[in-house]
Amino acid sequence: MTHKVYNFGAGPAMLPDEVVEATAQAVRDFDGMGLSLMEIGHRTPQFKAVLAEAQSLMKELLHVPEGYSVLFLGGGARLQFDMIPMNLLRHKAAYLDSGHWAHQAMDEARLWGEVVNVASSANDNYTYVPSQFSVPADADYLHITTNNTIYGTELRKDLDVGVPLVADMSSDILTRDIDVERYDMIYGGAQKNLSMAGTTFVIVRNDAVGRTGRKLPAMLDYAVHIAHQSMYNTPPMLPIYTALQTLRWVKAQGGVTEMERRAKRRAALLYAEVDRNKLFCGTARRDDRSLMNICFVMNKAYAHLADDFANFAAQRGIYAIKGHRSVGGFRASCYNAMPIEGVQALVDCMKEFETLHINN
Ligand SMILES: *Cc1c(COP(=O)(O)O)cnc(C)c1O
Repeated sequence: MTHKVYNFGAGPAMLPDEVVEATAQAVRDFDGMGLSLMEIGHRTPQFKAVLAEAQSLMKELLHVPEGYSVLFLGGGARLQFDMIPMNLLRHKAAYLDSGHWAHQAMDEARLWGEVVNVASSANDNYTYVPSQFSVPADADYLHITTNNTIYGTELRKDLDVGVPLVADMSSDILTRDIDVERYDMIYGGAQKNLSMAGTTFVIVRNDAVGRTGRKLPAMLDYAVHIAHQSMYNTPPMLPIYTALQTLRWVKAQGGVTEMERRAKRRAALLYAEVDRNKLFCGTARRDDRSLMNICFVMNKAYAHLADDFANFAAQRGIYAIKGHRSVGGFRASCYNAMPIEGVQALVDCMKEFETLHINN
């Protein structure tokens, strides 16, 4: 299988060809068993090996230290918006309001205790990541969203704020080295940079859980999932298998360091064109520009050409670059699986469209 179109969708997103192929094969015949992965037990040695390798590769690639567990749960990143405060909020939690998802996470936390909004960029339509703020020393954690998928801003460093971090890394996991020690928890929906929809990765510090005194339903209790090593109930088997294939692919390509190098190359190429091309301009503040989701709009004088450009690009194999409705314009999501050739194809498109409409 080769991609005839370049999928710039924000998620569920593009996966490497090898990963799609391996998944298709496992659906037909898993591990030479004469059975589909969809019809075998999750406690078979064959599936247990899949889960164990996926967990250990997450730890290896992200340098997760001792004392943390890797879980693959159901319910999407959004279920974590509740599980986090249920499991970790004792007295007070701090949230950084850097985008729609960050805000949703904060709103859910309010159901479970006192929440402090340390800073917000909502008034500027989340065009930047607030950097001037202080975190109450008695907060149980600071929740951050490292990549704001909708607005194309990113916090590409590990903050040092005096309290443990909890981070939604749905759309930038496995694109840089993280100092995991600073985090009580890192989580995200798999469908952006790891797998198909259907599972949520959770990296959680074992001794951060079970300290609230709150009685929790078993399925919503990290301690239960940690004790059962992510096998308390039937886990999302196929999404976990696909995640394993992606993790093997990342390792074979050279790991997270290589993923970061490629991400920087892709982003530099596309932002350079956004800045050069007279038809377009970027929407996020330069210092906070995301390497993953590159957002741009038509310059005002050319706003009427937006639909034309979308069609023009689609005819050239550029798929799903329409921006989120709250930003408008275009969003090119360039996750790990996006080859530089895809970005080059988009850049060529932008150049060609410019020559059609501007007489230089
Ligand atoms: C997509 C996304 C979500 C929502 O994920 P679901 O798995 O659909 O719940 C949450 N946070 C961020 C940063 C996202 O990009």
